[in-house]
Amino acid sequence: MQEYDVVMIGAGHNALVCAAYLLKAGYSVLLLEKQPFPGGGSTTEELMPEAAPGFKFNPCAIDHIFVHLGPVVQELELSKYGLEYLFCDPVVFCPHPDGKYFLAHGSVEKTCAEIARYSVRDAKKYAEFIDFWQRVIGALTAVFNAPPNSLLDIAGNFDRAKLNDLLSLLGSPTEIVDVIRTMFTSPLDNINEYFDEEFLKAPLARLAAELSTPPSQKNMAVGSIMMALRHNPGMARPKGGTGALTQALVNLVHDLGGTILTEQEVQRVLVDDQRAVGVRVANGQEYRAKRGVISSIDAKRVFLQLMESAEVDAANDRLRERLDRRIVNHNEAILKIDCALSEAPRFEHHHHRDDYLMGSVLIADSVEQVELAHTDPEMGRIPLDDPSMYMVVPTMRDPSMAPNGQHTLWIEYFAPYQIAGANGTGLKGTGWTEELKDKVADRVLSKLAEYAPNVKDAIIARHIESPPELESRLGMLKGNYYHLDMTFDQMMFFRPLPELANYKTPIAGLYLTGAGTHPGGSISGMPGRNCAHVFLQNQHPVVQSLKNVSDSLASTTKSLFGLS
Ligand SMILES: Cc1cc2nc3c(=O)[nH]c(=O)nc-3n(C[C@H](O)[C@H](O)[C@H](O)COP(=O)(O)OP(=O)(O)OC[C@H]3O[C@@H](n4cnc5c(N)ncnc54)[C@H](O)[C@@H]3O)c2cc1C
Repeated sequence: MQEYDVVMIGAGHNALVCAAYLLKAGYSVLLLEKQPFPGGGSTTEELMPEAAPGFKFNPCAIDHIFVHLGPVVQELELSKYGLEYLFCDPVVFCPHPDGKYFLAHGSVEKTCAEIARYSVRDAKKYAEFIDFWQRVIGALTAVFNAPPNSLLDIAGNFDRAKLNDLLSLLGSPTEIVDVIRTMFTSPLDNINEYFDEEFLKAPLARLAAELSTPPSQKNMAVGSIMMALRHNPGMARPKGGTGALTQALVNLVHDLGGTILTEQEVQRVLVDDQRAVGVRVANGQEYRAKRGVISSIDAKRVFLQLMESAEVDAANDRLRERLDRRIVNHNEAILKIDCALSEAPRFEHHHHRDDYLMGSVLIADSVEQVELAHTDPEMGRIPLDDPSMYMVVPTMRDPSMAPNGQHTLWIEYFAPYQIAGANGTGLKGTGWTEELKDKVADRVLSKLAEYAPNVKDAIIARHIESPPELESRLGMLKGNYYHLDMTFDQMMFFRPLPELANYKTPIAGLYLTGAGTHPGGSISGMPGRNCAHVFLQNQHPVVQSLKNVSDSLASTTKSLFGLS
């Protein structure tokens, strides 16, 4: 039987990041991936090799933002392993039905100038709005890059700039309470407080709702960081596609002596005397772990699907019920559409320029349309009357992803996992069928054609993935693109549950990482890095704690007194 220090379940980007840190610390690591290649939601694939040879697609993630809030790319020296980030500018384009459009540049000033063409007041307010959320981001970054229960690590992450951001938010007691009050409001409340113009409010609502809740969701005002982040640290894509991030991590893991085995679906975590000692994969092969098993798939899947009930109950007799009933995954998922195009979409009614298509292109006509884009799926309805969408033309920024002069189109459309009234039919009983997928894609593309009339004739081939297909491919429950909902009650030290929030579990030697842990979904590498930190601390608690105290003191001293 093969034996490693650590066996990891899954080889998405978070598992690869975690593995790299453990390998660097001298541990032997095996990653087991159920797909034929690593990457999970971070791959680039020729999805239609026959109908559209030479066109490369990102079936999941495309826009990388959060990864630039942490040190992973620099610490792991991923550029040496082939990673090159291409930053986008402009970052957002959203045409409005009345002919106006929101065009956001990397620069806040340039963006304000664009808004001022329609509303001088909203332009001024936009600068205030971004300034507020930038300061929140500064303070949150320290929290994102540390295990949520480790105040020492969080404190150590506050450099002078982040400390200034935090202090600037915390004025008099009344001001502090007011900042907290803002956090309890919804993105919509927050947007309405600042702005008048629908052409601006609708895209901001659409981006805020990318955290997977409707704009009107109370307690989710923090979603407004999604626009502020696009200004700083900015939005980028790996050259060659999202899969280039995975490839760089794979190169590094191999270089450090790690092992990645694909087509190895883990079916059982092996537990001996309340300690995780290895895993068994679908073909019956077992792999032993001397120091730990780290799962990059979420707690619900690990404890409810990969473990014997009695073994979980022996460690914590309430855990299974809490995982089952207290962690909530909504019904909203993504129907993903990828197209090979003979030419790029042209937004004829909005003074088309190719560079408008460098970043995220949003079809968000009104706040109400964006609201329905989330609430309809939650109720099992497909919001087809007036589809909102997030689309990208990846080849505008990176022409290497298609044959010369041709383009690709990436569309994210929110849709229900379970269709109301269709229980027990279609794929996995969700109601989704090939016919329905085609019908929905036709409607979404028709909506896009209202803005870019050339798009329909430009389509060479298209690939559509429904929520249950995503679930089958990558295992995400109900096709949840963040593994678990990113609602306030499931963030930070609540993610996935308070008793599991610091990457450790009641089973000795069993750790959690991945999107289902703090700080959550998206391409960030932060859950992987934070989990590695906790694992290493557990191996040498005294040495590591002393090192942490010393690092933390050094960084706090440096930030306070500017010492180098
Ligand atoms: C359509 C879509 C678009 C997205 N767009 C963006 C975007 O633009 N920007 C962004 O930042 N984020 C985006 N996301 C979210 C992002 O892709 C995920 O949050 C991220 O990939 C999570 O990474 P991870 O490593 O934690 O998990 P995953 O990428 O899910 O990796 C987990 C891995 O575990 C494997 N696995 C599952 N079960 C088993 C098992 N039993 N045994 C072995 N292996 C197993 C899976 O195959 C997978 O490879 C998008 C997601 C989707 C679905």
